[in-house]
Amino acid sequence: MTDFPSYWQNYIDGAFCDGGAGRITVDDPGTGAPLAQQACADARDVDRAVAAAQRVHLSGVLSDLRPVERGRMVQAMGRYLLENLEEIATVLTRESGKPLWEARIEVEGAARYFEYYGNQAETVEGRSIPLGKGYFDFTVHEPMGVSAQIIPWNYPLEMTARSLSAALATGNTCVIKTPELDPLSNTYFAKAAEAAGLPAGAVNILCGHGTEAGAALASHARVNQIVFTGSVATGIRIAEAAARNIVPCVLELGGKSAAIVHDDADLDAFVNDVRWGIYFNAGQVCSAMSRIIASDKIHDELVDRITGLAEGLSVGPGIERVAQGPNMAAMASLAQRDRAAAMVVQAQADGARCATGGRAMNQPGFFLEPTVLTDVTQDMQIAQEEVFGPVVSVLKFRDEAEAIAMANATPYGLVGGVFTRDLDRATQAARQIRAGQVFVNEWFAGGVETPFGGYGQSGYGREKGREALWNYVQTKNIAIKLGG
Ligand code: NAD
Repeated sequence: MTDFPSYWQNYIDGAFCDGGAGRITVDDPGTGAPLAQQACADARDVDRAVAAAQRVHLSGVLSDLRPVERGRMVQAMGRYLLENLEEIATVLTRESGKPLWEARIEVEGAARYFEYYGNQAETVEGRSIPLGKGYFDFTVHEPMGVSAQIIPWNYPLEMTARSLSAALATGNTCVIKTPELDPLSNTYFAKAAEAAGLPAGAVNILCGHGTEAGAALASHARVNQIVFTGSVATGIRIAEAAARNIVPCVLELGGKSAAIVHDDADLDAFVNDVRWGIYFNAGQVCSAMSRIIASDKIHDELVDRITGLAEGLSVGPGIERVAQGPNMAAMASLAQRDRAAAMVVQAQADGARCATGGRAMNQPGFFLEPTVLTDVTQDMQIAQEEVFGPVVSVLKFRDEAEAIAMANATPYGLVGGVFTRDLDRATQAARQIRAGQVFVNEWFAGGVETPFGGYGQSGYGREKGREALWNYVQTKNIAIKLGG
């Protein structure tokens, strides 16, 4: 890409188009300056997109295909992303602020979903149920129809890829509502769908304000299934809208996830996990390691080492952070950065100690220093609420029961971790931590293959893995009375 396009359109019914609600200005978080304009959809645009998706669904052009053929198209979309990796990663970095090397990982991660679910397309099989002589009974899994997918800004590509790939593989058509802060890179899904030969209207990508386009999509009477990834407050609205139309929804919401670190843990490996767990994507990760619950026997040493890690990160514009290394870039928006900084101030007022960082950086762009808070106790806001920034809170425990109780003492339950060489201790903790995913001795262990989703206010339903396929199909039982 030689010149960065100044205007990006929505994609409805196989055509790029303007938005009925005008345009949204997208900022470059690395500089704080406006980057480009994005077409902004209104409720009528949403209506057009849903109508197109429904038309394609009812035509059977996707759902009647032999699954392997649908799977190949899904895989081709992933290959398109990889073939255009550098261009897409550059757009993603410019609009989201993340380091270029992290953006490349995100493009690869997005492509991986299309590879995985493309492969899964032909594995969705029913079963035959014995009803005795005189009957033949079997089940089939049919696509839901129009899948509405509402995407957050922290991983705009991967979050879309996660739901879009599985929905298409199972024969659904999709309307994607992209995030206002960084919608631009989602354009490449439209191009990928065209390159893969998907029919016009099967994939619709539009940006618009959540309260207008998002709300119109979530409440649309012709939508058959909703996938939402975002905040708890919006999740509640989505669930209400889905309930009114009696359609299922998957909610992937926030987290306040804890790593329990025992005195026999491999601290070198753990500190490396902290680097990924809380400073990757500047901590704007729903499954971030936002709390460390450390044994009192290693607490002080651990705090020293994590503080050193945080202070060793070079922070600056993502576009300059080309190679993987000890670096971090901007947060996605000024509001998000200021909110995180304010939460650190509040934590200190509540009695926490800021071992390092905590301040907005004195330079253009939306930067927050990598932050370590100690002396955090369970009752503090910082221990209960999601920061969604590069801020880790360290709490101290004396025995295992206390550690588990602390880990479970938030309304969330997305992921959790336990770090120890003692297999019994790890296994007991894994059973007791109330979360959809537990990491033992490596934060973020797992992949596209492993189911992901929350307990409690972290949401319901599972994305990733084979479990996600069931979000996009409904089971039909066919019972045949045999003659003779
Ligand atoms: P958000 O809830 O503000 O927005 C998410 C999406 O919902 C955006 O596209 C937005 O436009 C849309 N939206 C907003 N109001 C809406 C409404 N009334 N009706 C329909 N759509 C509406 O969340 P965010 O700030 O973009 O994302 C951050 C949050 O997302 C964090 O809490 C984070 O933990 C969570 N998150 C969770 C996961 C996960 O998989 N569990 C992944 C990423 C982010």
